[in-house]
This record gives sequence, C-alpha cells and structure tokens, in this order.
Amino acid sequence: MERISWEKLSWPQVEALDRDQTTIIIPTGAIEQHGPHLTLDTDIYNADVIARAVAKKVGSGNRQRVLVAPPVWWGTSPHHLGFPGTISLKNHTFSEILMDTISSMKPHGFYRFLLVNGHGGNIGNLTASVSQIGADLGISIPALSYWQTINDLLIEVGESEIGGMGHACEMETSLALYLRPEDVDMTQAIIDMPNQPTPWSCIDFRQPGFLNIPLDLKRDSKVGIIGNPLLATREKGERIFNAAVERISSAIEAMADLTKRDLTTSRF
Ligand SMILES: [Zn+2]
Repeated sequence: MERISWEKLSWPQVEALDRDQTTIIIPTGAIEQHGPHLTLDTDIYNADVIARAVAKKVGSGNRQRVLVAPPVWWGTSPHHLGFPGTISLKNHTFSEILMDTISSMKPHGFYRFLLVNGHGGNIGNLTASVSQIGADLGISIPALSYWQTINDLLIEVGESEIGGMGHACEMETSLALYLRPEDVDMTQAIIDMPNQPTPWSCIDFRQPGFLNIPLDLKRDSKVGIIGNPLLATREKGERIFNAAVERISSAIEAMADLTKRDLTTSRF
C-alpha cells in the first residue's frame, strides 16, 4: 500500500508524483468542547479519519493517488469559548493557514485539492477562503463538510426529533462510538435539546434553518451539547462513516475526469 500521508513522503517522492493524477485532501476541523462525554478533537478527528479512508479507497484503484495533507487542527469556534478547552482561530488566521498551505504546494505543480471539513463553524470561512485562493492563486478548490454528503442517510438513521443532531449529538456520538469508543463517556451524556430561538432557526445537521442566528453554546445549551446523544449507537456510526467515505470517494473519482484547464485559471 502506498503511503497516504503527505508528511510521510520524502521530497524526491513528492517530486515524482504525477500532478494530473494526484489529489490532495486537506482535513479541517476544530478543537472545541463537545459536551462532557466527547473529546475536544471530535471535529478534526472525524474529518481526518474520513479523509484517510477516502485516500485508501480511491488509491486502491490504480488511476489516482490521494494524499492527505497535515490536518488543520483548529477552526473558528468563538461560540464554544464559554467552555474551557476550546482553542479558536480568528477567521483570517484560519484562511491564512489554508492560503499558505496551497501557496507552498502550487509552485511544484499541484492543483488537485479537496477540503474535507468536520466543523460546522468553518463553513463560511471555507467558502471565503477558497474564493480568495481562486483569486490569488488561480486554483479552484471544492470544500465539503462530510455530513452534507449524506443528508439522505442522516434523515434515514436519525431517530431523534429535529434538533437532536446538532452538536455532540446523535450523529457525532454515534461516530465516536464506532470509531473510538474508548474516547466516549456515555455516563456523562445527557439530552440537551435546543431552544430554537425562532421557528426558522433550526439547529440540526439534517435540516439547518434559514434564519441562522449565531450560537453561543454557553448561552444556548446546558452542558455544551445540542441534541440527543442518548440515541447514538455504534451501528449508526458505522453506517454514517461508511456512507460519507463512499460519497466523498465518488466525488473524487468524478473530479478525476476534470482537466487542469477545468480546475485552474489561465491568467495566473
Ligand atoms: Zn462537532
């Protein structure tokens, strides 16, 4: 099996990569409180482990090589700073990390990138960042959040009422029970359903509301959970994980048909 971690290659191995057949995934996430029952690295752990499974799956065919860049551990999590443990970047710091990463790789000819995100609070920044990268570096980079790829499955497996899959919830706790049960303390999990501030402010991975009033978890939750982790199961986590890996892998395989001309702009 070829190596999938960017940082585990030597420079001659990087130099030898086929630029047209190599996709680089950059996982993004957060170090932020996830209630009393999950660990601070939940979002980046999920993004990273999904990215690595995708790299293995796509790379096991012989058409494409997928490498995973060092993950961007921290995200923008000001709404979690009311609980200890959270480490939050400023918006521009997060963007600059992405910009500097791509700027380092681009001069060596790499142009196939995918950002795989595990933290809802990063989404606006990711959109802004890839727009700036396009403007400054001439590379078009898609960014996706893993739960957005499997909305249909989340609706199917979710047993909680809407509001039950928000944060450290039925979905994230199921993933942790499947991927690393030793890091979950279910004795500390409680139902912490959101007070939706308006009928249009839904806080749920399955059905985000259109009136997105920025949260403050200290204000808007009891213990840093939004949802119902008591309905989480290992089996749900396995289905969620496998489905996300499958969907993201098919997205990369579809992107393989795009040429350099499709993913870069000629004025650079
Ligand atoms: Zn999370």
